[in-house]
Amino acid sequence: MAVSKEILDKINESIDIVEVIGDFVTLKKKGHYYSACCPFHNEKTPSFAVTPAKGIYKCFGCGKAGDAIRFVMDIEGLSYIEAMRYLAKKYGIDIPEGPTKDVDFHKQNERESLLIVLQYAKNYFQKILQEHDEGQSIGYSYFKERGFSDSTIKKFDLGYSLEEWEGLFKQAVKEGFSIEMLEKAGLVVRKENANDKNSVRHYDRFRARVIFPIHNVTGKVIAFGARILKTDKSQPKYLNSPETEVYHKSKILYGIYQAKQSIRQEDNCFLVEGYTDVISLHQAGIENVVASSGTSLTEDQVRLISRYTINITILYDGDIAGIKASMRGIDMILEQGMNVNVVTFPDSEDPDSYVRKLGGEEFKKYIKASKKDFISFKTALFLKETEGDPVKKAGVIREIVESISKIPDAIKRAIFFKQCSALMEIEEQTLISEYNKIVLKKNQEKKHEDAPPPDLPPDFFNPDYELFQEEKKPEMTSIEAHEREILRLIINYAPIKLEESKRLYEYVLEQVEDIDFHTDIYRRMLEMVKSEHDNGNLPDKGFFIQHNDEKIRNEAVDMLVSKYDYSPNWEKKFKIFITKEEDNLAEIIYSCVLKLKKLNVMFLLEQNKEQLKNNPSEEEQIRLMMIYTNLKKVDMELAKMLGNVISK
Ligand code: ZN
Repeated sequence: MAVSKEILDKINESIDIVEVIGDFVTLKKKGHYYSACCPFHNEKTPSFAVTPAKGIYKCFGCGKAGDAIRFVMDIEGLSYIEAMRYLAKKYGIDIPEGPTKDVDFHKQNERESLLIVLQYAKNYFQKILQEHDEGQSIGYSYFKERGFSDSTIKKFDLGYSLEEWEGLFKQAVKEGFSIEMLEKAGLVVRKENANDKNSVRHYDRFRARVIFPIHNVTGKVIAFGARILKTDKSQPKYLNSPETEVYHKSKILYGIYQAKQSIRQEDNCFLVEGYTDVISLHQAGIENVVASSGTSLTEDQVRLISRYTINITILYDGDIAGIKASMRGIDMILEQGMNVNVVTFPDSEDPDSYVRKLGGEEFKKYIKASKKDFISFKTALFLKETEGDPVKKAGVIREIVESISKIPDAIKRAIFFKQCSALMEIEEQTLISEYNKIVLKKNQEKKHEDAPPPDLPPDFFNPDYELFQEEKKPEMTSIEAHEREILRLIINYAPIKLEESKRLYEYVLEQVEDIDFHTDIYRRMLEMVKSEHDNGNLPDKGFFIQHNDEKIRNEAVDMLVSKYDYSPNWEKKFKIFITKEEDNLAEIIYSCVLKLKKLNVMFLLEQNKEQLKNNPSEEEQIRLMMIYTNLKKVDMELAKMLGNVISK
């Protein structure tokens, strides 16, 4: 079911980009724009800017740019329609229920189709768990044994897959899902017969397993984790969906959808290892918990948590060797400016077993009493093993200082130096000089890097900055510059009418009908203008900013913050009077089109000259000369129209 145009318009009208982005990052007002540290890449000084007047954002570090809808799509990993649903919800606009399986798959994009298939599979596994004999006797009783209540089973959409090769496969195909989609969603495995290439069979990936659906931040099922219950040495205990268009293991945390609100409220996120840890804690009333499910924590996952809190508490399983192995990963969390606390459990206990033993309230008390900040925890852990061995101790000191050096905040660093010096019984100054060595070394390495990072424009949205922008693209040929300028005018002023019935872009389309744009991206953009027009749509900034092609999107954003922007500071600074572009639009587009035409004629004349130089046949020579004469005529006419003096 498509969302109607009226509703999309209504959502578009409600959007306040500062509000939308402000839900994810802290924006600071700077004159007529807002800045922040970019949520899409790692940085310590802000290069992410939002201009509310134009409804766009741009990061000068990683290049991400777009409007509020694009922002929601990128940060939450949503499709366009999903992002619109998100925004509708935010602004209290009613949208009819989402697409169901009888949607025409060809119309929907692939991502959306995958989500639909995955949703179907989730329902299928749930149904098997609840209604099938095998699901009940094996799956359901396993969950009950673990102490999961019915409402917990429902909250996490838990399910069961039958011990059959084609259980889900047959059912889904019968209901009209394509084999291709089932395969792409990672639900079905394709097997070719080695002897007979034409013989291909498909079978269920998950068989005889309890199913843990993995949700994205907005609650859509994007993958499954599955645990086998039989003891079968040939099968892995846990099996996960493969990476797909919608599932990137390193970017998601298990339980984030169910936990995010509580993480924000508690201003803390518990990090555990397994699905059952997450679920048991939830059931005990501790909801701010997620799992990295087996993999070591990635930067993307830390960034995901940092949208909701800067405090992470890692709940470790008992095993010391495992704890030590994961230590290096934690430096990365420190690097992102987050506070890390650590809790360990008595031997042979994990968060799941321990919370079931103690109950929620006691468990919370235990955490409160036994949590240590990561640095002191690490120091104590390593020191234990170095007793009486000064060489080992020196190594530990370096190791700890290395961790502290990752903390971006100087005050926090100072506190840790003090604490560690007490713990390790060494002079604080020793730690600090060790720290200085590390910093010095890092800076030297930085100097030797081949290409230094490009200097970011200090203040792109500052009106004065726009002066430099012209110099920034010296490589742009004149033709390219004019092609760009024409598209810039279209994107900025698509709805504006030049005359009674003619819009600016309609005028342009008429005028440039027989000109081939030289620059690939502008030629493509012009084609889009034309096809939007042919389809009765307005090729406005929204169309380009929301375009699927990132190159097109970024180009459009750049065009919206272009050098001709009116800015009062120019006048003051240079004592010149600048009229608003809007007031002069007809004249501007008229002369721009003429100039582009003239440049094209000059280009053809050049070409013609080259061809004449290449000793053409007499016949060809005559033909070229005629073309030359005609071109020259057009050139002079255009020059006259431009009011220029004819040179030579
Ligand atoms: Zn960025």
